[in-house]
Amino acid sequence: MNSPTETDKGTSTGFLRNIIEEDLRAGKHASVVTRFPPEPNGYLHIGHAKSICINFGLARDFGGRCHLRFDDTNPVKEEEEYAESIKESVHWLGFDWGEHLYYASDYFEQLYRWAEQLITQGDAYVDDLSAEEIREYRGTLTEPGRESPHRNRSAEENLSLFRRMRSGEFKDGSRVLRARIDMASPNLNMRDPVMYRILHAPHPHTGDAWCIYPMYDFAHGQSDSIEGITHSICTLEFEDHRPLYEWFLDRLGIYHPRQYEFARLNLTYTVMSKRKLLQLVQDGDVRGWDDPRMPTLVGFRRRGYTPQSIRNFCERIGVGKSDSWIDMSILEESVREDLNVRAPRAMAVLRPVRLVIENYPEDRNEEFLVANHPQDPEMGTRQIPFCRELYIERDDFMEEPPKGFHRLAPGREVRLRYAYIVTCTGVVKDAAGNVTEIRCTYDPDTNTGGPAAGRKVKGIIHWVSARHGFNAEIRLYDRLISVPNPSGDDWKRQLNPESMEILSDSVLEPALRSAEPEAVFQFERQGYFCADRRDSAPGMPVFNRTVTLRDSWKKAEEAK
Ligand code: ATP
Ligand code: MG
Repeated sequence: MNSPTETDKGTSTGFLRNIIEEDLRAGKHASVVTRFPPEPNGYLHIGHAKSICINFGLARDFGGRCHLRFDDTNPVKEEEEYAESIKESVHWLGFDWGEHLYYASDYFEQLYRWAEQLITQGDAYVDDLSAEEIREYRGTLTEPGRESPHRNRSAEENLSLFRRMRSGEFKDGSRVLRARIDMASPNLNMRDPVMYRILHAPHPHTGDAWCIYPMYDFAHGQSDSIEGITHSICTLEFEDHRPLYEWFLDRLGIYHPRQYEFARLNLTYTVMSKRKLLQLVQDGDVRGWDDPRMPTLVGFRRRGYTPQSIRNFCERIGVGKSDSWIDMSILEESVREDLNVRAPRAMAVLRPVRLVIENYPEDRNEEFLVANHPQDPEMGTRQIPFCRELYIERDDFMEEPPKGFHRLAPGREVRLRYAYIVTCTGVVKDAAGNVTEIRCTYDPDTNTGGPAAGRKVKGIIHWVSARHGFNAEIRLYDRLISVPNPSGDDWKRQLNPESMEILSDSVLEPALRSAEPEAVFQFERQGYFCADRRDSAPGMPVFNRTVTLRDSWKKAEEAK
């Protein structure tokens, strides 16, 4: 697990918090302005949640503000659908940017003027080398790069060429604008990086206004500067870009936010990059971006994770400066803790077998009054109907029970949760020898309030009345990837083939019929389940298993 670094002082956003406190105390800033800057080219994932919680959380805690800014410099991969979903997910997580919604594309005109300024200063030039040649000339970590033959064009010529690039005279890829920095710099980002490229493509926000687009690196730092961001917080892979951002800001002579890097979140048994997530969607490995197996926020939402549980998780893992993997079980424990408090209890039999109580009258119906939550009386009570024929879980019965099995078996007794003690008298089998029905008798004195209510038996099992229960589809989910640290190009072959199991003959207690989409329940002894927000219909919920009651993976790993 990633533990907070030494600079962390008790709070999860430790080292960043210390920096901000110091800056405020020293009067460097009057208030804190942070931003969350997604590129609208995919749905947000749990890694983004970490960044959102840091940026919005720090702004909230220091009474500042946090902007939502779409870094929409690449028109080709970006779509309005993604931007909408990003906004929805940030709100869902519980954060609000208020008035401060921005697009890097709003700054295209300003960025263009700054590019002209750099050209005029001799700090940028138009290059005619192809992308391939630029790569060749760049050199490597051990070899310096070579200067382009076009590097020493006059400012006038560069300006004229750049204006002609803008006016659409040239084909895609035929020219670029580059910063004139240092082809021998040990930092490859400083070897005359590309600032603008020609792309005759409409942009979701600016339409046909532009056929040249700034590179992310030429837009990012200046966007922060324009918005007066005080603390530009980003992930470690941008550490090597920081000198470049600073070079641009210095040469332009504009306000200079300071950038701080933190370690990105890696979560075991899943993949996180948008490219990989898109591939899963496009290849049909999952049922869309919001498939409950996806580590996207829409996926977690659909699966039954609460915003609170994800915020708690982000708090728990803290913010450090070294890359590491966080175990999926930490996230699962966060949702269990939250749902334990929040979720009413209910009974559902996932893999049913019929149980017939021979001495219970055929025409009798009974109801048991049951608390919806064992610790929270405010959640109220409900009636659970009972009759002669019930369903119980198939694996709560064994014909030849091994030692230590305390549930139902021939001649054994067990308590039916909230109801009576029953004793198994036999089974009915089909021609193939499968148990199709379990027979039993009940002890009428053993219900709550009955003369033998306190009689102890070793096992308690859940059940649903066959006459009153209803059938619903239940989807069980397991980890998307079967290895903890999927790596390299091999990750697709590491997909868990059993990541989803659909149960179609489960039987649920009648109260669950009216479950609203997104309602969460603890199905006793089974786990937490959430009514699917997409596929449930009125009176016909479909349930997703959010998480099991215990960490079954830990057990499996310990047994190895
Ligand atoms: P990915 O690499 O997963 O496709 P990205 O970095 O391209 O993601 P952006 O839209 O650029 O996604 O990210 C927006 C913000 O979220 C950035 O500030 C980025 O640093 C942060 N972020 C992205 N992935 C993670 C992660 N795994 N952990 C923490 N922060 C992340
Ligand atoms: Mg990115």
